[in-house]
Amino acid sequence: MIASSAASTRSQRRARSPERAASRRRLWLEFVNTDTAPSAPRGDLLRDFGTLLRWLVDARVIDTDRAGGLSRRALLQPAAATATLVDARRVRAAMRQLAERGATSTRTREDAILEINRVLGRSAGTRRLEQIEPGRYVRVFVPTGDAFAGLMIPIVESAADSLVLDELDRVHRCADPRCPRVFLDTSRNGTRRWCDMGTCGNRAKAARHRARGASRLGANADDEAR
Ligand SMILES: [Zn+2]
Repeated sequence: MIASSAASTRSQRRARSPERAASRRRLWLEFVNTDTAPSAPRGDLLRDFGTLLRWLVDARVIDTDRAGGLSRRALLQPAAATATLVDARRVRAAMRQLAERGATSTRTREDAILEINRVLGRSAGTRRLEQIEPGRYVRVFVPTGDAFAGLMIPIVESAADSLVLDELDRVHRCADPRCPRVFLDTSRNGTRRWCDMGTCGNRAKAARHRARGASRLGANADDEAR
């Protein structure tokens, strides 16, 4: 039921505005990209439990009140907080496999499903739909019992949505070999190659431009030699 409503919202939005559809976010892919964020020291945005909480707030998975409660609890239960961070990185590694190879490898999809179900199966709580601003909605999961347990649920649910919507063949790693970012290709004909036109796409364009310039120079030199 959730999946079909997501699919119909998706097609309505696509019909209304391609630009808006293009910026459609996939929480699980954003989470995967925290492992090599250019803005983070040594590339990993999830350095400790605090930075994990900050990311979850920025991604609107949890609100600042809940983050405050969790960080106070982390002071009282440092081992549980560390275990949560280790688990988040484990989920992230599994989601990266799914993003990079899920479209072509059955085994990868099966492993990811085990991981998704492991996370979904171990926490009880309440699911809610909340409006964060007019026209923007988020699903919220409020765990009961262990406060740390439910933090990965919205992320694996987002990955589950991509499986249900059968869109893994639109999930790619950036074509720049130096860039490990993954993205959902929402272009009409499915030919997007770069994580971002402003960075990797522009770099590739500039490189092609230089290559064309060099080959023109080479051709002129050949002419002169003749
Ligand atoms: Zn890139």
